[in-house]
Amino acid sequence: MADKDFQKKSFSTRIINERFGKEDAHRSITMPVYRNAAFEFPDSESIAAAFQYREDIPSHTYSRITNPTVENLEQKIKAASGAENVQMVASGMAAISNTFLALAYAGSNIVTSPHLFGNTFSFFKFTLEAFGVEVRFVDTDNIEEIASAIDENTCAFFCELITNPHLEVADLPQISKVLKAQNIPLIVDTTIVPWCGFDARKAGVDIEVVSTTKYISGGATSIGGAILDYGTFDWEHNQRLKSVKKTDGVSQFTFKLKREIARNIGAAMDPEAAYLQSLGMETLQLRFEKMSASAYHLAQLLEQHAEVMKVGYTRLESSPYKAISDELFIGNPGAMLTFCLKDKQACYSFMDRLRIIRRATNLFDNKSLIIHPESTIYGTFSPDMKMVMGIEDNLLRLSVGLEDMEDLQNDILQALKIV
Ligand SMILES: *Cc1c(COP(=O)(O)O)cnc(C)c1O
Repeated sequence: MADKDFQKKSFSTRIINERFGKEDAHRSITMPVYRNAAFEFPDSESIAAAFQYREDIPSHTYSRITNPTVENLEQKIKAASGAENVQMVASGMAAISNTFLALAYAGSNIVTSPHLFGNTFSFFKFTLEAFGVEVRFVDTDNIEEIASAIDENTCAFFCELITNPHLEVADLPQISKVLKAQNIPLIVDTTIVPWCGFDARKAGVDIEVVSTTKYISGGATSIGGAILDYGTFDWEHNQRLKSVKKTDGVSQFTFKLKREIARNIGAAMDPEAAYLQSLGMETLQLRFEKMSASAYHLAQLLEQHAEVMKVGYTRLESSPYKAISDELFIGNPGAMLTFCLKDKQACYSFMDRLRIIRRATNLFDNKSLIIHPESTIYGTFSPDMKMVMGIEDNLLRLSVGLEDMEDLQNDILQALKIV
């Protein structure tokens, strides 16, 4: 893996110049959308060779398994991240569920923070628990608590890179040391900061899961997810994966994921989405840098405003996570920030006055988006659950888009006037 400077300088060049696995029949400069389900073979011996993995360059057979357009996006993400293997799936939730369906087993446990994306929380707590998997919530700021929650049946430690909407940053290099000593893989949802802003391998991440719906899709064009394997974990230590056949070049995790789990679950990425997201990858760094610079500026502006009680952005001096944020992230930590107003009513009035910023869920669209998480994303959780998840009702979440920064600033200032 190249050093940080090289990676930063050549990030877009590497993605834009990533070549196809096989030359296109018409020398198309952009990977076309292969919308077909099946691929034809010239004779029975060659179709048998493809199904028995006897080819030097594997052929595509059926688009639930692999597809040229989807594979091209996997190659671009490999070039961007330095991961050893990338598996695209239909959504960010499919990335998380496929990963844990490959790792967890009845009697195993997952050690994680209760501060999770709502569906991830629900997947661990409700879906997986029905199959005999236990979820153990810990405070990720407390290394001793993490260490003591782990036992011989822990299949993974999982967290989000910056929790949402709390904006906590776990000290991944420290946690990774504890996990390595106990042979537990570190799995991180890195949706919030893409590869041009965060080097997962350097931070000690073994498996990365991403909702490519967000930054990667290039403006909320499509739903998608990615699972990245850095090839850094020795799966002999996982009860379930140690029996998986070892092959050259792919880890036991990737082998099981690609050959069994992803096919059986069938949440394959649609080729149209892969095409849109490949285009999104080509402008990723440009969009990330502009959005993040605007977010940092707006966070500073909001922090000085009398009506704003608190601003969450991990690069601010006021963030308890500033030191670890500066260590982990290259430049600004992304385009999402949070802020608190007097009460829930003030949040509603503020939102209703906005003219440019849209009232919508989702993150990292080209358009700026605002949401009141307590009444929407967490709206159906009980008050007790909201307490466990740490959801406050005077908090707003803003995802900063590509509009001109002055226009966003003016929109916010005029809407704050009536609060
Ligand atoms: C959006 C999101 C997900 C889920 O992704 P989908 O593509 O909507 O399935 C998971 N984790 C985080 C941090 C997210 O923001």
